Amino acid sequence: MTANPSRRRRAAPAGAASPPAMAPPQAAPEVTAPEVTAPEITAPPATRATPRARPARATPTASRHGSAEAPRRARKMSAAQAAAFVRTLAAHNPAPRTELNYTSPYTLLVAVALSAQATDVSVNKATATLFPLADTPQKMVALGEAGLAEHIRRIGLWKAKARNVIALSRLLIERHGGEVPADRAALEALPGVGRKTANVVLNVAFGEEAMAVDTHIFRLGNRTGLAPGRTPRAVEDALMKRVPPELLRDAHHWLILHGRYICKARLPECWHCVVRDLCNYGDKVLWPPPRAA
Ligand code: SF4
Repeated sequence: MTANPSRRRRAAPAGAASPPAMAPPQAAPEVTAPEVTAPEITAPPATRATPRARPARATPTASRHGSAEAPRRARKMSAAQAAAFVRTLAAHNPAPRTELNYTSPYTLLVAVALSAQATDVSVNKATATLFPLADTPQKMVALGEAGLAEHIRRIGLWKAKARNVIALSRLLIERHGGEVPADRAALEALPGVGRKTANVVLNVAFGEEAMAVDTHIFRLGNRTGLAPGRTPRAVEDALMKRVPPELLRDAHHWLILHGRYICKARLPECWHCVVRDLCNYGDKVLWPPPRAA
C-alpha cells in the first residue's frame, strides 16, 4: 500500500503515548559504504521569471529529507551535545565490527576496494569464492584480471575494480614486499584507493583513529547537526574534532550503523531513534508510516 506522506508528517495526537524507545539493531556496522564524491551543496540555478516559465518540478527521486549529494542540514550541535550523541550510540553497541568478511589487511583492502557502489552482502558473496583462491597479492596477480573477474561480475564497476585490484596487488609486491602499508600516503598511492578506503584500512586493520566518511556519515553529520560540512572531508575534519577522543577508534562504525539502519536517507526512523532528543533535525519522523507500523 502506498504510504500517505501527509500522515508521515503528522505529529502525535494530543494525549497520545510517546513513541516507544527501541534499541538500534545490533548488526555489525558496515565499514565500506560507497565512496562519496565530494558533493558541494550549491543553490539551484535561478529560473527566469517569464510568463511562459513553468514551475520547477521535483525529480522522482527527490526526498524531503535531502539526498546523498545534498542532505538536509540542521543547526550545529553544541560540543557537549555532539559528545552525548556519540556516547549514546556507543552505549547501545559496545563492540561494533565491520560487516565485510576479511582475514588479513590485504583481504580487507581488497574487500573495501570492491565495495564502492556495492553492498557488503554482494562483496561477501564474491569474496567467499575469491579469497580461498587468492588471499595474498602474489596469488591475486597469479589469478589475473580475467580470473578475478569471474568472481566479481555481479558487483557494480567490476571491470574497473578487477583492473585496480590486480594493479594494487602488483604495487604491493613491488613497493611493500607484499604487505599492506600502515601509511596513508602509501595507501592512497595504490590504484583505486581513495581517502575513505585508506581510512577504513587504517582504522580497522591497524587500529588508527581515522574517520571514513561514506554516504551515511555524510548525511548523518549534516542532517543531525553533529558535524555539518559541504564535503566529506569537511565532515571528517569536524567529526575528528567533535567525537570524544576515547570513542574515535570506533566512532565511524557507530555512525555508519546509525545512518544505515535508523537515520535512513529517504525515511529517518526517528520514532525509535535513541539519540532523538540530542538531534537537531527539524523534520523528524516521529511516527512510522502505516506500512511500517
Ligand atoms: S532523530 Fe531522526 S534525524 Fe535525528 S538522528 Fe535520529 S533518525 Fe536521524
